[in-house]
Amino acid sequence: MKPSNRLLIQDKYFVPYLSEHQMYQRVKELGKQLATDYKDKKPLLLCILNGSFVFAADLVRSMDTVCQVSFLKYSSYVKDQSSGKTKDLLGIQGLNEDLKDRHLIVVEDIVDTGNTINQLLKELSSHQPASIEVATCLFKPSALKFDISPKYVAFSIPNYFVIGYGLDYDNYGRHLAGIYICDEDNKNDK
Ligand code: 5GP
Repeated sequence: MKPSNRLLIQDKYFVPYLSEHQMYQRVKELGKQLATDYKDKKPLLLCILNGSFVFAADLVRSMDTVCQVSFLKYSSYVKDQSSGKTKDLLGIQGLNEDLKDRHLIVVEDIVDTGNTINQLLKELSSHQPASIEVATCLFKPSALKFDISPKYVAFSIPNYFVIGYGLDYDNYGRHLAGIYICDEDNKNDK
């Protein structure tokens, strides 16, 4: 990897992993698949802030179907380590939509341990929706600690710490158009 490809974000170096073009192509495909699967179902997309904002914006614009979009906010990452606890910052109680009998699509940036999604799916189920599925931009199967399997996944990746396309390190790096991995992770076999 040429030194010029490395980005310094705070105290860590990151290198390119998935390009802007790869993200664009794959997210477009996923949007088309969702549009087919949810035709005439008027799904409600529940996008998890902050990390999913870029993915959600691209995904929803690739979905040629009638749908609604709302946002939830939780926090479980401190710098680059999952704290294991999610903090409800903008929860289901704040939604304007009634979830009963709705087809829900939870839109996540990344499923890592699965803790956030696991808690959220339990909470959402209690509102008696017609269905719930997860659409995640990235999925780290080897980091998973809960019995969940997201149905819609743009990319499965190794257990690397990644940034870009909405994902951050210490709230930096969200603006990057592609996905970057931490250069230290890159050197370890994960
Ligand atoms: P989980 O609850 O599945 O362990 O983690 C979910 C949240 O942790 C994600 O929504 C994301 O905000 C954060 N997260 C997990 N892995 C990464 C990663 O590799 N990079 C970044 N930037 N955030 C991550």
